[in-house]
Amino acid sequence: MAELDIVRVPVLNDNFVWLVHDAPSGETVVVDPSVAEPVLAAAAQRGWTISQIWNTHWHGDHIGGNAGIVAATGARVTAPAAELAKIPAVDCAVGEGDRVRIGDHEASVLSVPAHTAGHIAYHFAEDRAIFVGDTMFAMGCGRLFEGTPEQMYANMRRFEALPDETRVYCAHEYTLSNGKYALRAEPDNAAVKARMAEVEAARARGEATVPTTIGAERATNPFLRAGSVAELARRRAEKDKG
Ligand code: ZN
Ligand code: FE
Repeated sequence: MAELDIVRVPVLNDNFVWLVHDAPSGETVVVDPSVAEPVLAAAAQRGWTISQIWNTHWHGDHIGGNAGIVAATGARVTAPAAELAKIPAVDCAVGEGDRVRIGDHEASVLSVPAHTAGHIAYHFAEDRAIFVGDTMFAMGCGRLFEGTPEQMYANMRRFEALPDETRVYCAHEYTLSNGKYALRAEPDNAAVKARMAEVEAARARGEATVPTTIGAERATNPFLRAGSVAELARRRAEKDKG
């Protein structure tokens, strides 16, 4: 099976929209389009036409481009069944255990509530790739707007169970801020120190620092590494204070 072509489209202040292209079928999925125009342009530049939109949760910076992309391409919208009231014009409502496809590539839907109550992730097990929306970031996790530390802790256990080489496609460039907190949370973690040196250099050059990998997060993410619900809750509260 040919490898998926995955392209990062930076939009707004710090959002990443992901284009996923399958050459044999000619299909293109866009994950969490914040806006339409730059995403349509990024696809057109490569000669791709967006055929599907996959949303991870209802926040405007993840669905704001849906209508414009549907109007331009007729793309089908897949979104969390639990958030249908908040996401307009969904064609395919999905939840835990459902499967979605691009060409011959199959992703399974994981229910990962906490950032929002119906948040989902899309996991391509064979392709070793997962689109996590705002549930996990490089060295960070999403804020608990509609859920609990217990739920986020459970989400972290699911991500932790994936193979190290799994690429993690998150939806924001928050790595520098997350890394600064990771150094506070685990001042003796040499992997965090080494990663932060790389991240600072990359950001100084204007480069993005995602996707990340499950292996990198296992070594450096203070929320994935939190040893209990209480520790995750404490770390999340400390990070929220800035
Ligand atoms: Zn969000
Ligand atoms: Fe977001």
